[in-house]
Amino acid sequence: MKELEERIQKDGRILGNDVLKVDSFLNHQVDPVLMQKMGQEFYNYFHNKPITKILTVESSGIAPAVMTGLEFKKPVIFARKHKSITMNNDTYIADVYSFTKKTTNKISIAKHFLNEEDHVLIIDDFLANGQAVSGLTSIIKQANATLEGIGIVIEKTFQKGRQLIDQQNIPILSLARIKAFKNGQVVFAEE
Ligand code: 5GP
Repeated sequence: MKELEERIQKDGRILGNDVLKVDSFLNHQVDPVLMQKMGQEFYNYFHNKPITKILTVESSGIAPAVMTGLEFKKPVIFARKHKSITMNNDTYIADVYSFTKKTTNKISIAKHFLNEEDHVLIIDDFLANGQAVSGLTSIIKQANATLEGIGIVIEKTFQKGRQLIDQQNIPILSLARIKAFKNGQVVFAEE
C-alpha cells in the first residue's frame, strides 16, 4: 500500500536493529483516514471469504481491525492481555510472547463471542515472529471456528512470522512489507 509505505518513510523511527516505531499514526496517535483506507484494502482482498468475525489483540490491532469490521459490517473481537489468568470455563486462553516487551502474556476472549460457525479474519498491526498470530490461531482452534485469512498492517519479512504462516497455507495480506533496516532507512520488499 503505497500511502502506508510513504507514511512509514516519513514518520517511522527505527529502534535498535529490528523495531519500527510508528506511534504517530498507528500505535499511540491514530490516523483514522489512513486506518479507513487500510480497512478497505483488507476488505478488497478478503471480501470473497465468508467472514463472520474480525479478531485482533488489544491494543494496537484494534484501530485497523475496527475499520476492517466496518467494511465487512461484521463484529470485531479483541483478545485481552493479562499477565496471569487462570483457566475458567468461560474463556479461551493462549500464551503470547511479546516481541517488543520481552514478556509472556496470556490473551483471552470470552467463549460466547466465538464458536464453530464462525469464519474469522485475523487483523494485527505488526507481524514479527508470529507469536500474536499463533496465539489468536490457537483461540480460533479452541473455538472450532475457521480461520479464513490474516491481514497485517506492517510485516517485517526478515523475522520468522511470515514463514510460519506460509507453512500452514493461510491466506495473508500485509499492507507494507519491510525487508530490512539499512543505514537508518526502511527498505521495503518488492512484490
Ligand atoms: P510477533 O508476535 O509477530 O512476534 O509480534 C507482533 C506483535 O509485536 C505486534 O502485535 C506488535 O504489537 C509488536 N511488534 C512487533 N514488532 C514490532 C515493531 O517493529 N514495532 C512495533 N511498534 N510493534 C511491534
